[in-house]
Amino acid sequence: MTKVLASYRDPELGKKILAQVEQWADRACHRLGRWPVIMEVCGTHTVTISRLGLRSLLREKVILKSGPGCPVCVTDYGDIDRAIALARLPGVTIATFGDMMRVPGSHGSLEEVRGWGGRVEVFYSPESAVDFAHCHPETQVVFLAVGFETTVPAIGLAIEKAQALQLGNFYIFSLHKLVPPVMRALLTDKEVMVDGYLLPGHVSTVIGSNAFRFIGTEFGVPAVVAGFELVDILLSLAKLLRLIAEGRPQVLNGYSRLVREQGNPRAQALIERYFEPSLASWRGLGNIEASGLKLRLAYRELDAGLHFPLEVPTPRIPAGCACGEVLKGKVFPQQCQLFGRACRPERPVGPCMVSSEGACAAYYQYEAQGAGDQWEGADE
Ligand code: SF4
Repeated sequence: MTKVLASYRDPELGKKILAQVEQWADRACHRLGRWPVIMEVCGTHTVTISRLGLRSLLREKVILKSGPGCPVCVTDYGDIDRAIALARLPGVTIATFGDMMRVPGSHGSLEEVRGWGGRVEVFYSPESAVDFAHCHPETQVVFLAVGFETTVPAIGLAIEKAQALQLGNFYIFSLHKLVPPVMRALLTDKEVMVDGYLLPGHVSTVIGSNAFRFIGTEFGVPAVVAGFELVDILLSLAKLLRLIAEGRPQVLNGYSRLVREQGNPRAQALIERYFEPSLASWRGLGNIEASGLKLRLAYRELDAGLHFPLEVPTPRIPAGCACGEVLKGKVFPQQCQLFGRACRPERPVGPCMVSSEGACAAYYQYEAQGAGDQWEGADE
């Protein structure tokens, strides 16, 4: 396995594929009469592309921009405020992944609530939060279920375990988001001009590459499911640019060593058993029908939203924050007036600068200059 992985990280092979990427980018540019625009819809891709320097390396050939691929970043202000209000309730412990701790709500973050005496615990898996609830019957544990299709099966397993243990103090605050509906929202937004999409490999292992076919058949836009290593990303870029150059709106699987057309039936069954689609509110994108998940009727006693009904005031969005525009790929992070000034990783204003998968954090760390210039060049 190590040998196989090493071949996907081979810089010499990477250089050869990079030459193909450049050739197909030239042809795509010739066909379109401008630089092709590609959006990655996965936070891990965003970080990898930035870390590898591909955005600046290809800056005279193709515009690589980031979309709503970071699950923490797309969580709406109102939902962050609700999570913080839950953490302030006496007798309640918020269980969360670490990335959520520093995300600012209207009045502070979960980290600050903990500093003020609120009970907030960080876990690496939902199952460990169940174990915590089992060992601490004196507190009501609310798990902040943030993530795309990839994380939902693990939540299903946690619910299974909580039920087997007959816990009466474990709840789910479901803020899950589904990727195909947000792709539809992007594709119908006339201001989002994208010639092709790099699709998320991890999500595709669960839902399958067929779940994205509609991008080509209904919207006439090509897309490629991509893996996460250097060679994966470059090969997928080359495939995508070739589709753009040839005017073929197909959806291809560039991560076939892990992604099947139909996805993972066991993971899908776990999602189906416990959840059903629901309206969800996305930061910057607003309400999108059937783009979230709520617990099915049979499991509603675990629903934190129903068990702890809370009214939170209208969120206070920081002046100048462009997180919504960044998530739609309408501006590069550097084009936010707060980037690198009022908003920095050590003192973030928005989640895109907090999360390890956030576009602002990735651009700040790896490419503080360059992508904004590239964007301006596209308009010429
Ligand atoms: S720089 Fe900060 S405020 Fe601006 S878009 Fe990024 S995270 Fe939001």
